[in-house]
Amino acid sequence: MQNDPLSHGLWEMTAPPAPPTSALKGEVRADVAVVGCGYTGLSTALHLAEAGAKVVALEAIEIGFGGAGRNVGLVNAGMWLAPDDIIKRLGADYGERLLGLLGGGPAEVYALVDKHGIDCELVRNGTLHCAVGRSGLAKIEERARQWGARGAPVRLLTRAETAKRIGVDIYAGSLLDLRAGIIQPLAYARGLAGAAIAAGAAIHTRSPVRSAERTGKAWTLATDSGTITADWIAVATDAYGVAPWPQGRREQICVPYFNFATRPLGAELQAAILPGREGCWDTRLIMNSFRFDRAGRLLFGSIGALRGTGLAVHRAWSMRALKKTFPQIGEVAFEAQWYGMMGMTDDALPRFHRLAPNVVTFCGYNGRGIGTGTVFGRVLADHILGKLSEKDLPLPVTEPDAPALPALKEAYYEAGAQIAHAVGAWL
Ligand SMILES: Cc1cc2nc3c(=O)[nH]c(=O)nc-3n(C[C@H](O)[C@H](O)[C@H](O)COP(=O)(O)OP(=O)(O)OC[C@H]3O[C@@H](n4cnc5c(N)ncnc54)[C@H](O)[C@@H]3O)c2cc1C
Repeated sequence: MQNDPLSHGLWEMTAPPAPPTSALKGEVRADVAVVGCGYTGLSTALHLAEAGAKVVALEAIEIGFGGAGRNVGLVNAGMWLAPDDIIKRLGADYGERLLGLLGGGPAEVYALVDKHGIDCELVRNGTLHCAVGRSGLAKIEERARQWGARGAPVRLLTRAETAKRIGVDIYAGSLLDLRAGIIQPLAYARGLAGAAIAAGAAIHTRSPVRSAERTGKAWTLATDSGTITADWIAVATDAYGVAPWPQGRREQICVPYFNFATRPLGAELQAAILPGREGCWDTRLIMNSFRFDRAGRLLFGSIGALRGTGLAVHRAWSMRALKKTFPQIGEVAFEAQWYGMMGMTDDALPRFHRLAPNVVTFCGYNGRGIGTGTVFGRVLADHILGKLSEKDLPLPVTEPDAPALPALKEAYYEAGAQIAHAVGAWL
């Protein structure tokens, strides 16, 4: 997007085209204006339009320009935090509600894909959280215990079982989560946009919202070439948010995460590595992830930004790391590379804010936005339609806060990952 092959990489190369859209022009009236066209905004727009509301979604650049078009495509169930920690931090009422909703996140994604016939390379065979060493094993054992106690379809796999599924014997074990899956993330976002338009929503791209003004009981949003007046505003800009509501972005620390994609591997290698096509990530502090796409490219990702010296450092490291992880691959050639910013909150929990009267937002998904954004978009729609009161939301209403020294922390993650990869950490 924007002629930058480092922003959306493989996903832009292989996604079906986005539905045709244009910039907002003139003065428009709607029931609801949605700001931002990632999963949250598109799911909000789709569900509102299906309920008969007049909804207009405005996107600053293109559909899926933010995290939705750059991520790894792991459709995870639940948050980064383990279930008991969520209950501890949110209390039983909100905690159970959040766990119930997000545990069902992948199922909601699958239902939308099926209902709207979205072509997005969906594979519903689960994910493997791979344990590195004894401490990694202890982590996933505890997760397995907690999810198992809640009846979730998770299974702890032994070292041998893990090696059989992945094709290499390097992990102490893994947690198989059968609720989860993998997806082509930009294709899913574009498919949601198509479904929202078919349901009656209007989507305008190249329409950054520059200002918001209260006009009586409504709001008037201005873009460069038009205005929209609406009774409700759903702000769905998350870690890519800028004015007029930068609060969601400001309360998150943006951690960069990159991916490299190989050329399609030969048939034998494709059969030997991840034959079940699960999506994988590991328990390392500087996490690694890997998965296949539909054409048989192997994707390998980790923390870091592909800019400045980072591009060469992370590329060289990824090449060595991939060879070391999967020695059977031999010489590695990358066909695509890209990175994006994952928004992390200080307690690893997402947020719901009422930014002003009738201006609402969910944000802060901590690297778990495919299911979460889809579910929270539906919840936002229900809230705006009056079907779900504020007290019945999955999160309490909070004031946006701002972490201390955000720029320093973000620089620390970017530089720290680069140093770790430059010195060849874990190679
Ligand atoms: C590299 C990376 C890897 C990730 N891996 C995974 C993964 O494997 N699984 C998973 O579940 N999650 C993953 N995530 C997280 C996930 O991508 C995000 O949580 C998700 O995209 C958030 O969705 P969203 O719709 O809320 O926001 P986004 O997808 O970020 O969309 C926000 C949109 O708002 C637009 N916008 C901003 N300001 C304005 C304005 N003023 N006017 C109009 N539009 C505006 C932006 O252009 C953007 O398109 C990853 C994220 C990254 C970056």
